[in-house]
Amino acid sequence: MNNNLFVETLKLRQKMNILKAMKGEIMILRKFKPSEKTKKQLGLPDDFKYIVIYNPKTKKLFCDCMGYITHGYCKHTKYFEVIIKELKKIK
Ligand SMILES: [Zn+2]
Repeated sequence: MNNNLFVETLKLRQKMNILKAMKGEIMILRKFKPSEKTKKQLGLPDDFKYIVIYNPKTKKLFCDCMGYITHGYCKHTKYFEVIIKELKKIK
């Protein structure tokens, strides 16, 4: 895929996710800065950040990063998975 198209697709998806968050359908948990290397490789804009979201209905986590897009999981979603597991223990 053309890099520009890839970046535009990512940005569009983020906008849709922000809209969903405004409607209360999902929660934006955190934004992560991509590494300089990744930014260069993918041609991401300088201010680009990955957004980690949580869908309370499906209880699933999503991320914008290449790891998640490629494998369906990543260190960012893993980070919150661990926290959610610990919170469940307290309940
Ligand atoms: Zn990620």
